[in-house]
Amino acid sequence: MASSIAIDGPAGAGKSTIARMVAGELGFIYVDTGAMYRAMALYMIKKGIDAGDSGKISATCVSADITIKHENGEQVVYLNGENVNGLIRTEEVGNMASASSVNADVRRKLVELQQKLAETTSVVMDGRDIGTVVLPGADLKIYLTASVEVRADRRYRELTEKGVSCDLEAIKKDITERDYRDMHREISPLVQADDAVLVDSSEMTIKQVADRILELYRERV
Ligand code: C5P
Repeated sequence: MASSIAIDGPAGAGKSTIARMVAGELGFIYVDTGAMYRAMALYMIKKGIDAGDSGKISATCVSADITIKHENGEQVVYLNGENVNGLIRTEEVGNMASASSVNADVRRKLVELQQKLAETTSVVMDGRDIGTVVLPGADLKIYLTASVEVRADRRYRELTEKGVSCDLEAIKKDITERDYRDMHREISPLVQADDAVLVDSSEMTIKQVADRILELYRERV
């Protein structure tokens, strides 16, 4: 039977880096669900849809064919046959993803895809609603968080290292707004599942967090 680890938490908590490490260690597939919402958001941007127009978002998401494949250990997201991995990591797409992911039709479509993936393959899946909605029966659920200051600072360093000029206060504001939207939306808001283990990574290294999750998983199975 396929095993699963669900990792949820706010933007910039380090979910993807840690989920990828844990998956690599256990030989599971890492599934980044945020990338699917980002691909959907990219589609909305390409179609010129307004972030607040839920009717148009519902009508448009029907024609977005999103699939994921794993190539050389990396998740590749295809939007209507096109590899969009290089196009979905911008702040514009992230903000549109946070706005369009409140839509019930978008969520239904992507949750179905995520559940299908986990049926046959052992996964470490990260997102906002994995432990609560997508994989309520996951073998281990982690709620990974860190203070807004630490998360904004990490994002700032990441962008600066890539040569992208940015403003720390603007990043902090963006993260705070995104958290608020994700935590207060009507459908599948970001909340810690009752049976999830809270891990605050503010004072921990990536390796310490990954080791903690592996230890918890091994205790359970
Ligand atoms: O994790 P990432 O920043 O890539 O996610 C982008 C946005 O997609 C989030 O801000 C959130 O609104 C949405 N999302 C979601 N449910 C998930 C994963 C991401 O609503 N499972």
